[in-house]
Amino acid sequence: MSATVVEIVKASYLKTKPNDETLGFGRTFTDHMLVMDYSVATGWTHPRITPYEPITLDPAAVIFHYGQTAFEGMKAYRTDDNRILLFRPEKNFQRLNASCERLSMPAVDEAEVLEYLKQLLIVEQDWVPSSPGTSLYIRPFIIATEAFLGLAASKEYKLVVILSPVGSYYQNGIQPISIKVEEHYTRAARGGTGAAKTAGNYCATFNAQTKAAQEGYSQVLWLDANEKKYVEEVGSSNVFFKINGEVITPELNGSILPGITRLSVIEMLRSWGIPVVERKVSIEEIFRYDDEGLLEEVFGTGTAAVISPIGELEWQGRKLHINDHQIGEVTQKLYDTLTGIQTGKVTDPYNWTVEVK
Ligand SMILES: *Cc1c(COP(=O)(O)O)cnc(C)c1O
Repeated sequence: MSATVVEIVKASYLKTKPNDETLGFGRTFTDHMLVMDYSVATGWTHPRITPYEPITLDPAAVIFHYGQTAFEGMKAYRTDDNRILLFRPEKNFQRLNASCERLSMPAVDEAEVLEYLKQLLIVEQDWVPSSPGTSLYIRPFIIATEAFLGLAASKEYKLVVILSPVGSYYQNGIQPISIKVEEHYTRAARGGTGAAKTAGNYCATFNAQTKAAQEGYSQVLWLDANEKKYVEEVGSSNVFFKINGEVITPELNGSILPGITRLSVIEMLRSWGIPVVERKVSIEEIFRYDDEGLLEEVFGTGTAAVISPIGELEWQGRKLHINDHQIGEVTQKLYDTLTGIQTGKVTDPYNWTVEVK
């Protein structure tokens, strides 16, 4: 028998759902959430669906002081025949556990939490939007709740899953973005927490992101923290370069977040017979390939935008214009195939989608 939540407490009133046209990202939340508690003595207990509501914590809770927390980001999509699909959800819970391990937090039972999530999605099924490009964003997270100021891992935690209907990332069709190579700040160092989805990795990028936005760029490209030489990621996306027919992406080195979209893109390219390599790649090398006329396409990958074509890259005062600011052929095919699989419009030869029912 599959795992079930022990309790469902229905919200006493239901919110008015926003129009699909007005959906942005991450500001509207559904009526219910999933909650589960952990203590060293009992393990994870009392999985329950409750009304969406504030969490009350002791001011000394470890999360507030030492940032012991991990999160995930995934989506549920509505198909044309009104089914609800998840995309490789088991990978998100595997990665949540990998993040927990790095942060001295307890692992969850991946299969069990996926079952609880499906139950939450069934309660909230009317919140999964149907317009093209929309989806229900799923944010699982774990926080350290023990009231203790000593520098040690918390003995108590809370897992919460909240849901947010999100709009089409590309309001005016898919548009190549401009990126600035960040030369002062770095995102993550080798041996640090860069491979984990944990709060501190993100608040530390806000200043560079704000500065780049003021200069007219959508995101920054992060270089490695040791030498400021090798490409790591773009914003909170993984990055790919198509050079002379071959696709290159930075190899996972402990400071790069192992994206599930990244993994899926690598697997799709392999199945199409397009050569793809994971290796160290320096920013200087990318600019040299462009000088030689060999840089064909650049794109970012992540759950939010799925595939983001990059049309411009700025580094040390030099500007690269990629593929004439047009989306490349492989980038477009990846976008169409991946979003097609996620929304059930294209057959899924990889068995990546999981139906919620
Ligand atoms: C979440 C995230 C990604 C993309 O991962 P997906 O699983 O593809 O959504 C890439 N980089 C960073 C820093 C991230 O936080």
